[in-house]
Parts: sequence; C-alpha cells; structure tokens
Amino acid sequence: MSVQQSAPPKSNSAYDVVVVGAGFAGMYMLHRLRGQGLRVRVFEQGDGVGGTWYWNRYPGARCDVESMQYSYSYSDELQQEWDWSERYASQPEILRYANHVADRFNLRGDIQFSTRVDRAVFDEDENIWQVATSDGKTVTAKFVVLATGCLSNARKPDIKGLESFAGPVYHTGNWPHEEVDFTGLRVGIIGTGSSGIQSVPVIAGQAKHLTVFQRTPNYSIPARNAPLTAEERKKFRDNYPEIRRFAREEARNGIYTEIPDRGALDDGDNERRARYEARWQYGGLTFMSVYNNLALDKAANDTAADFVREKIGEVVRDSATAKLLQPTTYPIGTKRICIDTDYFETFNRPNVTLVDIKTNPIAEISAHAVRCGATDYEIDALVLATGFDAMTGSVARIDIVGRDGRTLNQKWAEGPRTYLGLMSTGFPNLFVITGPGSPSVLSNMMVSIEQHVDWIADVVGYMHDRKLDTMEAEQGAEDKWVAHVNEVAWTTLYPQANSWYMGANIPGKPRIFMPYIGGVGPYRQICNEVAAKDYEGFAMTRAERRQKAAVS
Ligand SMILES: Cc1cc2nc3c(=O)[nH]c(=O)nc-3n(C[C@H](O)[C@H](O)[C@H](O)COP(=O)(O)OP(=O)(O)OC[C@H]3O[C@@H](n4cnc5c(N)ncnc54)[C@H](O)[C@@H]3O)c2cc1C
Repeated sequence: MSVQQSAPPKSNSAYDVVVVGAGFAGMYMLHRLRGQGLRVRVFEQGDGVGGTWYWNRYPGARCDVESMQYSYSYSDELQQEWDWSERYASQPEILRYANHVADRFNLRGDIQFSTRVDRAVFDEDENIWQVATSDGKTVTAKFVVLATGCLSNARKPDIKGLESFAGPVYHTGNWPHEEVDFTGLRVGIIGTGSSGIQSVPVIAGQAKHLTVFQRTPNYSIPARNAPLTAEERKKFRDNYPEIRRFAREEARNGIYTEIPDRGALDDGDNERRARYEARWQYGGLTFMSVYNNLALDKAANDTAADFVREKIGEVVRDSATAKLLQPTTYPIGTKRICIDTDYFETFNRPNVTLVDIKTNPIAEISAHAVRCGATDYEIDALVLATGFDAMTGSVARIDIVGRDGRTLNQKWAEGPRTYLGLMSTGFPNLFVITGPGSPSVLSNMMVSIEQHVDWIADVVGYMHDRKLDTMEAEQGAEDKWVAHVNEVAWTTLYPQANSWYMGANIPGKPRIFMPYIGGVGPYRQICNEVAAKDYEGFAMTRAERRQKAAVS
C-alpha cells in the first residue's frame, strides 16, 4: 500500500502537475504521478471524491457495467479485498468505494476540494500553465491534466416558465445530499435516458402519481441485478488477470464477454430468437454482443431492435403506451443502450402516466403544472433527467488559453479536435482523460481511464528523464486522427442516431461523432505504438533557457 504524498512544491503555488477533477480518473492520475515523485495538486469543485458517483445520487442510480469489472484494476490487493455486494453496485456503494480508495492510497492531502478551476493560461515564455481557481488564487504547473469527466456538466433544459415552478426541481446529475422523499406527491420527470430509466421505477414506488415526459423512447435491457455471492466474487477474483487482460486488449468496449463468431443473418429465425432470448434473460449490456454485426448492418440490427420492441409490447399492457415506449427512429445501440430494473413494468402501475412530448412538446411550465398543448399535467415536484453536455461540456466551462492567446473553445467551436483524444494542437502539456477522439463513453470507462492515466504518467516520466519542457500534438497528426475517427464512425450505424455522442442533445452544439469507435483494444495498441516510436506525432522541445542552464 502506498502512503506517499506529493513532494512539497518549490513555492506554495508551483506544481509539476495540476489535475482537474477527483473522480476515478483524477484519483488514479494523482496516485500514479505521485508514485513518480512529482508535485501534484488536484482541484475538485465538489466537497468529496467520486465525481459521477458524488453528483448522481438520484433514486435507482447504479452502474451498468458489472461491478466486478467497473472497478480499478491497478492494484491487485484492492480488487481482491473490496467486496461488491451486487452484480451492479448502487451509487452509495460506488461512492463508498471511491472514498475507500482515497483513504487507502492516502490521496486526500493532495486534493483541494470545493475549488473550481476557472482558467488555465499557457505562458509561452516560461512554458508553464497559470491555473486560476475559484478561491481567487493562481498556481503554476508544467502540466495540466483535465480529469473533468465526460458526463459531469448537468444539462438544464431551456423550458419556458421553468423558474416559475412553485415546487422543488431536481436534476438527476446534481442530486441533493439529503434524502428526497416523494411520498404523497405528484411528481413529473422529464427525460427517459439512462438516469430517467433508472429512477422512474423507484420514484413511481414512492410518489402518489408519476408523470413521465418522454421525447425519445430508449432501448432498454433488463439488468437482472442480484446480490453477488462469495462464490461469484471468487470466480472473478481467481480469474482477474485474464478478465482484465481481455477487457483491455480484446474487447471492443472493455467488457469481458464472449466474442460473437457470427452475424445476425447467419442464423435462422428460431436460432436467432433463442440467442436473443438467452441474452435478454441473462440481462445487461452484453445483449449487443450476441452478434458481431449489430452496429454495422442495418438489416442485422433490425432483428435485435424488433426483438426488444416485441418484449416491450409483451410487458406493457396498454397497447398505446407500449407503442410510445417502442423506439423506432434509430438503430438499437446507436444511443447508449440502457439497463433497467422494472422500467417497462412500471408503466402498468395505475399511478404512472406517459406523456409523448415529441408530438406534443412542452409549451410551458407554470407554478403547479407542465403544459403540453392544451393539457396541464399538475405536479408538486419536478425531476429533470435531461442528461449532460457530454464529453466537452466540463472542458468548455474552463477558460483555457493556449499558444498565441487562442482559447480551446475557439479552437473547438466547430467540434473538438484532438490527437488520440489526449492532446490538442496549440495547447502544450495539456492532457485530457477520456477526451473526444478516444473510446471513452463507448467503453467500460474504468478500462479507458486506467489506460489514459498510465499513458500520460509514462510520457510525463519520459519527458522528465530527458529534461524535455514541452509536448504538443503536431497539426498533421491531429488532422489525420480526426479524419480517422470520423471515417471509422461512418462505417457504423452510430451516426444515424441523434445522440449525445453526436452532441445532438445540446441546441447549437456542432454535430460530430465524438468518441473513437475503433475499440479499446486497437486504440490501446495505437497509443502504445505511438509511445514506442518516441511519441510519434507529438513535438517535444527542450527550452533554450534550460539547455543553457544545463551546459553552464
Ligand atoms: C449515472 C451515471 C452512471 C454511469 N455508469 C457507468 C457505468 O456503469 N460504466 C461506465 O463505464 N461508465 C459509467 N458512467 C460514466 C462515468 O462518468 C465514468 O464511468 C466515470 O465515473 C468517469 O470518471 P471521471 O473521473 O473521468 O469523471 P467524473 O466522475 O465525471 O469526475 C470529474 C470530476 O471533475 C470535477 N470537475 C469538472 N470540472 C471541474 C473544474 N473546472 N474544476 C474542478 N473540478 C471540476 C467534477 O466535479 C467531477 O467530480 C456513468 C455516468 C453516469 C452519469
């Protein structure tokens, strides 16, 4: 067990690395860099660690990658000793895990909580970042790592009259720390993405009445969540080396599962149905791994989409409601597939109403109601499950100024541009973890986070050993990578959906496919090859000033 702390800064405000964010990415980044003897400061706007699991405390929140895989792999002791209680851990348990990691690796001393990074300016004369924080101070650092999260900038919808609503308004992505009790209340929820789908059954069980306002229905697969037995945990633990290796190197999405050996149209109707049924009964995200062409071939995809639509039709008793809940406008899996516990069953409850706001948009919110067309749906409390300004939202909220006074927001105005999702030309020594242009949200994020952290820690060590001052993505390498990311995306069905992968949930946001779809295994290989070729595509410099100092 490591009990290291950062070496003391040269001055109180000079660091080797500033890390922004103390979610799973920021915590591991701190641990790795500190292990290399570097002076590190983490700034976190929340007052605790855990990121996503600190903010998303809504009822029903839990992971959708199985806990035994949605966990750090970097410490075998940690993965052997931590007991996950359920197949999919709930938010409180994941937050306990994050806190356990912070204590076990003695991280808190180097994290400054309740402090936002507002601005980071690259000083080209000194090759140093000036980082201004919400407590009015400025620190300097050679490197800045943005561990700001892909789904951390909660999106409040722009609905007329929202501020005039008399009751409480909650956002799933910024839920109060105190328990919210909906007993006896008429509750409205806007949004039926993953957070809506997880919270609807729980809120419906408590509220007097729940009105669900749905714009786009989502494909959702039963989670089949259950307590984990000691035997199940042991099976994972005994096989962790292979499970983790497979997730990193072979799985496209960082999840250990069988690799399909055929396409959906290679089987006859009965065989195909039996396979879908088996996965439906097994539950979880691996439903999409039944066949190897569901993301590529529309006819193949239709067979899976039809199966799920049929299931929805079987579960939901009212046929008009079932029809509204059946997605038809985009291929299955091209928006992040959801995992639920009794979501569709909930619409059979007498205290739940589904309102279609696609054909009948919300016109206005008044003190006590949500108005759609001529109908007022009276409510006492409102839940916004309206998602995030994904992937770039939290980065955009920081005023980042690179070479020649150019801001990252100016550079990314037409969509984010990176080399390998890790760096952007014009912004030396600035890294992004799970940024646009990397597999990121298309993967088990723990796998992607650990890969990025290790890669960044290694290159920082490489530069340190060679006394290099700056590292920057070359323009040509970045252009080629952006073209490659797009090219791969357009060979799949993904761009057919208006998803948050495309920025489509944010009015005015440029539509480009942000994550890299080539798979975590091939992506890791590319990153490793780049590193092996002395960081090909990155320009590294040693400042004149330093060279002179070294000579004298
Ligand atoms: C409800 C929900 C469920 C999810 N389930 C899964 C799952 O099952 N499997 C999976 O792989 N992924 C899942 N994800 C994605 C999840 O975000 C990642 O798995 C992971 O937790 C991201 O970690 P992170 O450290 O990169 O970012 P985050 O956890 O988002 O942490 C970023 C931190 O940076 C802080 N921050 C941002 N900007 C600033 C600033 N300017 N100054 C200071 N601090 C700042 C934020 O406050 C936040 O604490 C889920 C996401 C949500 C919202």
